[in-house]
Amino acid sequence: DLKLSLRGVHRHYLERDARLDILVNVALDIAAGEIVALVAPSGAGKSTLLHVCGLLERPQQGEITICGTSAHELNDRARTLLRRQNVGYIYQFHHLLPEFSARENIMMPLLIAGVERGAAQERADALLNHMVIKERGDHRPAQLSGGEQQRVAIGRAMANNPGLILADEPTGNLDPETSGHVFDLLANSIKDHQAAGLIATHNHDIARRADRVVTLNGGAVVPTKLA
Ligand code: ADP
Ligand code: ADP
Repeated sequence: DLKLSLRGVHRHYLERDARLDILVNVALDIAAGEIVALVAPSGAGKSTLLHVCGLLERPQQGEITICGTSAHELNDRARTLLRRQNVGYIYQFHHLLPEFSARENIMMPLLIAGVERGAAQERADALLNHMVIKERGDHRPAQLSGGEQQRVAIGRAMANNPGLILADEPTGNLDPETSGHVFDLLANSIKDHQAAGLIATHNHDIARRADRVVTLNGGAVVPTKLA
């Protein structure tokens, strides 16, 4: 049961006269319940790969299939719907809405998806509970610690029960101990929901907790072993 599948994906940027080949003939499969860590130096193309997987950027070539639906033939509107229904995104910095409480931030994707307010609130409270920050629901992001902010961001990403979770340095802003806790919450959520996770990280201790580790080598996704 593949949640993410890439075949022959190419992505380049044009900069003045030069062509930067960032992703070259990328193939990648991630199954339900599987967590893949992406470890590569800055500038290697990790964010580009996540954006392409999340349908935020179009590759110049290649096939991307998310939860059984190929994005290839879809127009922008259909791509947006596929993303909203099936992809949860977590960033290094939480990107929570500052004017809203933790609970409201988690409710947001549900309300956008048309879930009725009371049901959205119940679901948000259940997610706060799973993230072990039940008592923080009424706080705004600025009133939360870095680890708590990331827990809310994970709750928001999981709210619609997406089949694919993409995380770009989700623990990059946290101390080592908090990083471990936040990663474990993220990994448990992904496994409990039988989603697939692709997690870019510089942190080898974090990457080692994934089911497997890949890197970008000359633009290709290849398996790697951490020292
Ligand atoms: P990473 O996340 O591994 O640090 P990125 O995917 O952000 O790498 O970037 C890979 C390379 O692509 C970098 O050299 C970056 O400067 C370049 N790049 C990223 N986005 C653009 C863009 N929109 N236009 C031109 N170059 C870009
Ligand atoms: P229910 O059986 O009513 O779904 P749960 O307490 O098991 O009650 O879950 C409440 C909500 O939280 C559910 O919608 C479920 O999808 C979600 N959920 C369950 N476990 C986790 C988890 N580990 N991480 C994130 N969300 C979860």
